[in-house]
Amino acid sequence: MPTKLSESLRQHFPFFSSTQSEQCVYLDNAATSQKLQRVIDVTQQYYQERSVNVHRSSHQLAACVTEQFEQSRKTIQRFIGAKSHKEIVWTKGATESINLVASGLAKSYIKPGDSILVSALEHHANIVPWQQIAQTHNLQLKVMPVDSLGVLKLQASLELIDENTALVAIGHVSNALGNINPIADIINKAKQLGALTLIDGTQAVSHLAVNVQQLNCDFYVFSGHKMFGPTGIGVLYGKYHLLEQLPAYQLGGEMIKKVSFTDTTFQPPPLKFEAGTPNIAGVLGLSVACEFIQQHRDTFLQLEDHLYQQLLATLAEIPQVKLWGDKINSICIQSFTVEGVSHYDLAVLLDKRNIAVRAGHHCAMPLMHELSIDGTIRVSLAAYNSSQDIITFGAALKECIGFLSDSNVNSAEQAIATLATNAQLNQPMPIAESIQKAKSWDQTYRQLMLAGKSLIRLDPQYKTEGSAVHGCESQVWLRCRLEHGKLVLEGDSPSKIVRGLLAVIFETLSGKTTNQILEFNLAEYLVDLNLGKHLSESRGNGLSAVVNKIVAYCQLHNSEQ
Ligand code: PLP
Repeated sequence: MPTKLSESLRQHFPFFSSTQSEQCVYLDNAATSQKLQRVIDVTQQYYQERSVNVHRSSHQLAACVTEQFEQSRKTIQRFIGAKSHKEIVWTKGATESINLVASGLAKSYIKPGDSILVSALEHHANIVPWQQIAQTHNLQLKVMPVDSLGVLKLQASLELIDENTALVAIGHVSNALGNINPIADIINKAKQLGALTLIDGTQAVSHLAVNVQQLNCDFYVFSGHKMFGPTGIGVLYGKYHLLEQLPAYQLGGEMIKKVSFTDTTFQPPPLKFEAGTPNIAGVLGLSVACEFIQQHRDTFLQLEDHLYQQLLATLAEIPQVKLWGDKINSICIQSFTVEGVSHYDLAVLLDKRNIAVRAGHHCAMPLMHELSIDGTIRVSLAAYNSSQDIITFGAALKECIGFLSDSNVNSAEQAIATLATNAQLNQPMPIAESIQKAKSWDQTYRQLMLAGKSLIRLDPQYKTEGSAVHGCESQVWLRCRLEHGKLVLEGDSPSKIVRGLLAVIFETLSGKTTNQILEFNLAEYLVDLNLGKHLSESRGNGLSAVVNKIVAYCQLHNSEQ
């Protein structure tokens, strides 16, 4: 029964029938979801057949699209149970919605000595705006704690809410762990003490039915792209009287009533917050996505629960796996770590098997710090995932863990020995050559892992913020120094693959002068070795940050010489 349901659901998503993505097992839905055919159709129709502006021109087409645009507000109103469509503000996404509220409250509502409360589970989008206004307005930023698995400690959190709490900002669902937070209790306590509440519903709205009036929260925010809708569109819900009090966020056309060179009057909410031409196609697409979710809510819940239980059972078969977060009060997201295996290495190898998961801190660095880990692998499911996706993932995960375990590095040693014999060499082959000779991606990774063993590892005392290389989903440290005018490189990482990549770079650069290094095209060299993938600017790839750090060091010391 679930298989049939998920098959019929998949037909609404062209991703699953495109030849390019057909092979991909997509388990990264919390980053962004696949898009509904209807969403694509309505946005395409807007661009192809009715590309006009809203709230400006009075010709028929503009009037028709403006009507559709405003009807979409009513769709969102129904979707989250708001009292009025005037409480629905279009934004670029959850991030902009939170920034809008934070900057408005900073100008109008918050006073020195107040505190703002966030939870340890928050996405950076629900931390940084509050932290910034706390710093500039002399407020205290307090953090609701989590237990050792990352579940919110409710009692301790409630105790942090007091008369000085101006606002409590908390995610409905944690993007990193999938926990459903007890927001009803938190909102209740905040109301009793007169604090405002902002709920980040970005990971919740496509999985849970939300009613903002029942919740009695003051603000609720989410993004369209995580719920089968377009990117670049999101929602800020706010109680109308609060939106009225909140100052405008951006100034310009659309949000004004009357402008002269001496004065301007603004529109009432929601238009007051919608300066400039909005993302019209995005609004129309998001509205269609909400209708679809509402229509299929029960089916979604049934499918998601079935898939999540299957995922938990699959992970339970692997003894080295540690699960994080709440497995009962959870949507279908599961984060885990594997003892002795770097999450980065696992994600790279899963990717090679066409399995898309997310690895790292998931934009929740403070949470990772609280849990004393540098990241997790996160599998985030959606109702359109199939049982077969989880079977394929489970088998691949076991294979990858095996590949990355030490005994397999020994077989990598054998592999390099074979290659060396083939090359008729009795001494170890240079790393670069061994990588060039690898005949498949798994041989390449075996060579890399073996190369990592020869890395001159950084003494722990040098693993400091100064030597940390940021930009990779794995931790990386790099120390450059000059000895008799020649570069000495030391580095480390918990990732075997990253250690291997460092060894490749060190092999070619160590012992060279800064001038020689600045003349050397390292990026081209790595592309020649088929390691270019690790140079991309994506957050998961840290090699370019390592390369940039070495080049910056050489530039600095070259000019000093
Ligand atoms: N809040 C949560 C819980 C999220 O998961 C995300 C994105 O991952 C955001 C906020 C930010 O969303 P956006 O990048 O769409 O603004």
